[in-house]
Amino acid sequence: MARIAYVNGRYRPLGEACVNVEDRGYQFADGVYEVCEVRGGHLVDERRHLQRLLRSLGELKISLPMPLTALGVVLRETLTRNRVQDGIVYLQVTRGVARRDFAFPTADTRPSVVVTARSLDPASNEKIAVNGIDVVTLPDNRWDRVDIKTVSLLPNVLAKQTAREQGAREAWFVDCEGRVTEGSSSNAWIVTREGKVVTRPADQGILRGITRTVLLDAIKAQKLTLEERAFTVQEAYAAREAFLTSASQIVMPVVRIDAKPIGNGAPGPVTTALRREFHRFAERC
Ligand code: PLP
Repeated sequence: MARIAYVNGRYRPLGEACVNVEDRGYQFADGVYEVCEVRGGHLVDERRHLQRLLRSLGELKISLPMPLTALGVVLRETLTRNRVQDGIVYLQVTRGVARRDFAFPTADTRPSVVVTARSLDPASNEKIAVNGIDVVTLPDNRWDRVDIKTVSLLPNVLAKQTAREQGAREAWFVDCEGRVTEGSSSNAWIVTREGKVVTRPADQGILRGITRTVLLDAIKAQKLTLEERAFTVQEAYAAREAFLTSASQIVMPVVRIDAKPIGNGAPGPVTTALRREFHRFAERC
């Protein structure tokens, strides 16, 4: 079945769906995006994702060219047209098309909206989670507004590629004080030897992940001790468990960091329980 993309008011076969070469998303990475999990034909945490989209747009002074309710309709229609039951929907809003100039274009420039969707096999993600994944650490060389979910992702792309070349699935960025910030496309967590769940505060050099936010409720419900603080790479090596969170991977066990086994080198009980419980705390609509 041919995939369908929504581009500025039209649903087109993916191969024919085009944006203008002077779109500022293409020229300057001047735009923002969201990725939302789709499960059983429903959007997971749509409300939170759209709220974060509004925040990102506000930080960059880009207006949303349609009401949020209309955007919700477009997301669902894109899922339907692509027959996605389980997978992800991708939404991108850029500052629009204008003659190339670094400064913002005139106020009447209409932002561009693109939505795509694709199916993912839940069983294959589950298979990866059973064994857990490898992570490598790399210096965090990104700008200081990583709290905005912009399409400007080149350091993340290069970090992920470095991880893949070393046989790992994710790279964890490390700040100049040796503390983990987050993954190239995920938030980073450890479980200490004392059983405390630790993740970096969302106001310090990371994206406030929607999965992270929802997981905080699951952690509370399981009566686990949470510490929102930065942790060092050394602390991660010595942790009992480690995991990462993102909309497409949910809670993914990390079993090796820089080739060093974490705990006994297999997914731990806290991570496994949080992965199992996650969707009880997520919103489905
Ligand atoms: N951090 C970064 C840099 C990301 O790119 C992502 C997701 O793409 C996340 C964290 C996790 O965010 P979410 O849970 O909303 O998918």
